[in-house]
Amino acid sequence: MAPFPYCRLPSGISFGNRKPLLVLGVCLLAGFIYFLREKRMSAVPIFSMSLFPGVEQRRSGLYGKEFPVMTPWGAPLVWGDSESSVWRRDEFAHLGARTGLAILAIGNYNHYLQRLLSSAELYFLLNFYVTYYILTDRPRELDPPLKLGLNREMRVIPVAEMPGWDRLGLRRMALLATLIKEQINLEVDYVYCIDVDQEFTNPVGTEILGKLTATLHPLFYGKPRSSYPYEKNPDSQAFVAEGEGDYYYSSEFYGGLCSKVLAMAQTCSLLILQDQDKGVRAQELEESYLNRYLINHRPTCVLSPEYNWWESPGVPDVPTQRLHSIGRQCLSSGNYKGDTNAC
Ligand code: UDP
Ligand code: MN
Repeated sequence: MAPFPYCRLPSGISFGNRKPLLVLGVCLLAGFIYFLREKRMSAVPIFSMSLFPGVEQRRSGLYGKEFPVMTPWGAPLVWGDSESSVWRRDEFAHLGARTGLAILAIGNYNHYLQRLLSSAELYFLLNFYVTYYILTDRPRELDPPLKLGLNREMRVIPVAEMPGWDRLGLRRMALLATLIKEQINLEVDYVYCIDVDQEFTNPVGTEILGKLTATLHPLFYGKPRSSYPYEKNPDSQAFVAEGEGDYYYSSEFYGGLCSKVLAMAQTCSLLILQDQDKGVRAQELEESYLNRYLINHRPTCVLSPEYNWWESPGVPDVPTQRLHSIGRQCLSSGNYKGDTNAC
C-alpha cells in the first residue's frame, strides 16, 4: 500500500507535477493570513493588549504624515482624526456613556474657569452626558452659572484649600479620590481630571474613553526615555529606576472608568503622604507620582499631544490641536501663570 494514498489525484497527476500548485497555494494562504492580520490590526485599536505583542510603532497616515497609533503593549495611541479614532467613536456612539469632568480652581486660577467651561460646551463629548465637577474656593464666582447644553450638568463643590501650584500638586489626588468615592462614582461611568488653565480648541470625543487614559507630555513625545523627568531620588515613592517606563505622561489631562481613576488617585495620594512623612517631595509633584503609577499600571488608552498642546519650540506640530494648555504656554513664554493680565 502507498504510504500516502490521498496524495494522488484521481486524474493521476503525480505529486511532483503538483509542486508549483502547492507553492502557489502556500503563497496565497500566506498572503491571505497577512491581509487578515493587517486588517485586524487597523480595525482593532481598542484594548488589543495581547493580540499582537511586540507591535511597537504601528503607524497610520494623517494629512500626509505618519503617526504611531498603537503602544508597544497594544493600547490605542489616539489621534482624533485617525481611522482608529473614527472606529472608536462608532463603538461608543450607542453606549450612552456618562462622563464627569473634574476641575480644581483655587485662588486666582478661578479666572480660567469660564474659558475652559465654554470651550468644553463647544467641543467636549458633544451629544453625551457630561457633568462638570468644580472644586473651588470661590463658588460665588460661577454666578450667574453658564447656560449648559442638553444632558450637561454642573456641580459646584466648595473646598477650603489654599492656592499654590506646589501645595495643590500634592493635594489634588486626595481631593479627587474623596470626590470620586463620595459622589462621582454614583453619578457617572467615566471621570476625567483636567487642569483649569486649559481650553478645548477642537472636538474631543469618545475616542478618549478607556479603562485608564493618560496623555503624552508633548515636550517628551518622540524623545529618548533617558530625557524623561522621572523622579530620580531613590528615597521617593515616585522613584523610577533606569530602564523603567515607556512614556512620560502629562498631569494636565487623565481619566478613565471611575473605579480605575479612584484606585489611581488613592494610590498616588498614599505615595504622596508616605513621602511627606519622610520629608521627601518628588520633583514634578503630582506628575511624578502619576508617572510612577502608570509604569505599574499601563494605561489602556494613550492620548497623543493633540490633547495636551501649547505653542513652544519644544512642542511638536500635531495634526489638530484639541486641548490647549494656556498655563504652560504662559510659562514657556516667560509669563507668570495665574496672572490675569499676562495670560
Ligand atoms: N491650581 C489651582 N490653583 C493654584 C494652583 C493650581 O486651582 O493656585 C490647580 C489648577 O486646576 C491647575 C492645576 O492645579 O490647572 C495644576 O496647576 P498648574 O496648571 O499650575 O500646573 P502645571 O500645568 O504647570 O503642572
Ligand atoms: Mn496646567
